Amino acid sequence: PNKEFVIFRRRAEKTLKELWYFISSEVSKIKKVSGEEVKDKLSVMMATIEDMHHLLSINFEDLKTINGQHEWLEKEHNLLSDIVQKRLHFLQHPKDCNSAKKLVCQLNKGCGYGCQMHHLMYCFIVAYGLERTLVIDSSGWRYSPKGWNGVFKPVSKTCTTYHGSLSPWIGEGSSKEQNVLLPIVDSLFPRPKYMPLAVPRDLADKIHQIHSHPFVWWIGQFDKYLFRYSPETQHSIDRKRELLGFKKPIVGVQVRRTDKINTEAAFHSIEEYMYWVDLYYNKLEKVQVVEKRRVYLATDDGNLLPEAKMKYKNYEFISDQEISKSAGLNSRYTENSLHGVVFDIQMLSESDYLVCTFSSQVCRMAYEIMQSSQPDAAKKFQSLDDIYYFGGQSGHDVEAIYPHKARDGSEIDFNVGDRIGIAGNHWDGYSKGINHHQGKSGLFPSYKVQDVMEVADFPTYDAV
Ligand code: GDP
Repeated sequence: PNKEFVIFRRRAEKTLKELWYFISSEVSKIKKVSGEEVKDKLSVMMATIEDMHHLLSINFEDLKTINGQHEWLEKEHNLLSDIVQKRLHFLQHPKDCNSAKKLVCQLNKGCGYGCQMHHLMYCFIVAYGLERTLVIDSSGWRYSPKGWNGVFKPVSKTCTTYHGSLSPWIGEGSSKEQNVLLPIVDSLFPRPKYMPLAVPRDLADKIHQIHSHPFVWWIGQFDKYLFRYSPETQHSIDRKRELLGFKKPIVGVQVRRTDKINTEAAFHSIEEYMYWVDLYYNKLEKVQVVEKRRVYLATDDGNLLPEAKMKYKNYEFISDQEISKSAGLNSRYTENSLHGVVFDIQMLSESDYLVCTFSSQVCRMAYEIMQSSQPDAAKKFQSLDDIYYFGGQSGHDVEAIYPHKARDGSEIDFNVGDRIGIAGNHWDGYSKGINHHQGKSGLFPSYKVQDVMEVADFPTYDAV
């Protein structure tokens, strides 16, 4: 497909999605102040609009299958993935490990599993940028006494340790030092130009052609290399998957509660998640018979599974909690909790669609891994709060594709081409951001902008 076709199709798909967010949110506001008769009429109207929305969305998906586009996409995704995987393999297998330059990443960051793994992914990006072999220091890792190799395959067959002293990060200029220790992203200074959400210039156009969110495709490739399970972990995941009856179609729902609520995120009821799951299955039933509406439920809240089962009798809930109960969930740094969260992330990433809060690193990680195992998974999610982000990213810009005049003091103006730093999507037709051109911040209609792909010069690994 040519570039313009892809761009216009994505715009149309986005507008359709935003149209749904807008109408459903406006109608529920109107319902709150209406009498019973109007409420009933609005419900009938919404049922028809939902039907039309699903069919239109299916029409767009059909457009992607004509002229062998689907096969092309899959082939291109695999080819590109091969290139990146070979480069990472090359990086991790230097000819002479003793003299190779290394970037050392310590796992024992004082935070949860998703947070530690995101630290590792960022280390790997910087290692790729510096052409330094990534060495994981997982000694004393609270999650696993056997360290990284107790859970995953080693990141190299030939080069996994460093000798000598560790030099602190002083920027890309520290190229003479043999071993550099990378600090956490919040204290990284100076920052290299290839920090998230940048994608490499030599692959950017190709990634953009196959994926509407190039950075998540890019980071998904680092996940693909890093998170290769050891034979024991793989065996236990496969056994548990079978035991629980994980089967497609399935929607992955992750509900993050406990310590996160009112500190980093708001509480969301199970109904808020299931609203999107219902929509997913209503649409799917337009094109296939769904014998069982299945949900994979991942959560740190030990009381949620019985509640979900009681409230949604027409669903089958599959959950790790069924067998591991809440063992280890509260003690966040045990091997038990590690196995729970690793399995949950794997099942979420294998699901057909994800409903969660992107404020949780657990769900963002599942979404990233999904991009490497499925060719076109950019839109297979609904977040109840944040848009996708990578902790420590260098901003996230969108650009105006239609002009907008603020309708009241809460909104911002823009002209075509203005860059807007996006803070979030309110999932009601509006997003919030700052117009860099004017320095003003406020709401704007989400359908009038498109994502900007950040591109940076990475090494091109010509030897591979
Ligand atoms: P965040 O706090 O949700 O952004 O993600 P982190 O991974 O940094 O920390 C959350 C910790 O809570 C994880 O390491 C897990 O121990 C636990 N946790 C959160 N959500 C889940 C879940 O869905 N399943 C399991 N098994 N554990 C979870």
